[in-house]
Amino acid sequence: MTRIIVKVGTSTLTGGTPRLNRPRILELVSQLSQLHQAGHEVILVSSGAQAAGRERLNFPDYNKSVPFKQMLSAVGQGQLMHLYSQLFDLYDQTVAQVLLTRDDLSERGRYLNARDTLDMLLTERIIPIINENDTVATNEIRVGDNDNLSAMVASVLEADFLVILTDQKGLFTADPRKDPSAQLIAQVARIDANTFAIAGGAGTKMGTGGMTTKIEAAQLATRSGVTTIIASGNEQNVLIRLFIQNEAIGTRFLPTSTHLEGRKRWMLTDGCSPTDRKVR
Ligand code: GLU
Repeated sequence: MTRIIVKVGTSTLTGGTPRLNRPRILELVSQLSQLHQAGHEVILVSSGAQAAGRERLNFPDYNKSVPFKQMLSAVGQGQLMHLYSQLFDLYDQTVAQVLLTRDDLSERGRYLNARDTLDMLLTERIIPIINENDTVATNEIRVGDNDNLSAMVASVLEADFLVILTDQKGLFTADPRKDPSAQLIAQVARIDANTFAIAGGAGTKMGTGGMTTKIEAAQLATRSGVTTIIASGNEQNVLIRLFIQNEAIGTRFLPTSTHLEGRKRWMLTDGCSPTDRKVR
């Protein structure tokens, strides 16, 4: 049984539009259900709460304040879960909402608690759908982006794979939107300064994280023994092709340590050292 964490960002869920793209989300749900039925353990880390909130409130004037965004999340998280729950019902698949902050995954007692809950959900063959608990998360306790949140979850759950679906096909040798000769990098054995230099700057308007954030997340996950794949959410049947047809798609980052070493580091550093904490 393979344990797979799939992270989808707002740009994938909306297809770059202001609204959640239901047919696209249905395709994602269908693939996750198929992986689950094939015997894999599946966990979804999904953004989209703010986008759903904005849609539900009929696109109020954009306001950058934290309480405004928290309000959007509070409205939208329920909408988002309702949608997922209805779509997964088509496949007779039960889902559960799990909202986390950084402290839930780094402070030992809470991390064990969160891990036990997630383990129990997986034992009961329920698909957890995780997002950051935006409404209560102040800057000090936020992860701040779901790329890093998904990597933390992958470490805690000792997942085999983390798949970060985005609007690009993976990591390229240069920014493909600016440089037509840019080549997709199929595999990265170890993430280093050069990897970050290549990733620099790429990002979209709707989501939080650009490619740099994804590489950070891949680094955290691969250091915990988790193979990480960055691939395009627009690619037809991307998850089925990756895990049922064993196709190589996107960029694959190989683990640089074992789960056990990762767990030891996690315990010693309280998940992530405070200097790693980002304040957005
Ligand atoms: N938690 C935010 C939301 O659901 C998104 C964070 C992110 O995109 O990284 O809207």
